[in-house]
Amino acid sequence: MRGVLMLLRGLAGRCPACGRGKVFNSFYGLNSVCARCGNRFHIDGSPTVGAMIINMFITILIGFVAGILLVLWVPAEQLLWGLAGLLLVMALFSALFYRIARGLWVGITTLTGAYEGDERLAGEE
Ligand SMILES: [Zn+2]
Repeated sequence: MRGVLMLLRGLAGRCPACGRGKVFNSFYGLNSVCARCGNRFHIDGSPTVGAMIINMFITILIGFVAGILLVLWVPAEQLLWGLAGLLLVMALFSALFYRIARGLWVGITTLTGAYEGDERLAGEE
């Protein structure tokens, strides 16, 4: 249950550890640590790869399902416009969902303790 709470806090852009600090300092920009509890959110942009994978997976899944539905239900003469519209929707979704995916990834890294005992942090503390 605690893990689910941490992931939900990350999704909401709040510190997964304490729920009070803000994860983001701009629409996409991450703070490196929580201002309230000191929980580390990332090291040199490292959450980007995990968030990109989450974002890509969800976007492709939605595109795949919507593409199948389009092919099944849209008349053949309108299919090209439907697929073009779907590509546009997927691009917009991907751009907006990336922020949520970054928050979720911060929740996952906090939940798994990914940065605890990391040698890259040894010089900072
Ligand atoms: Zn915190």
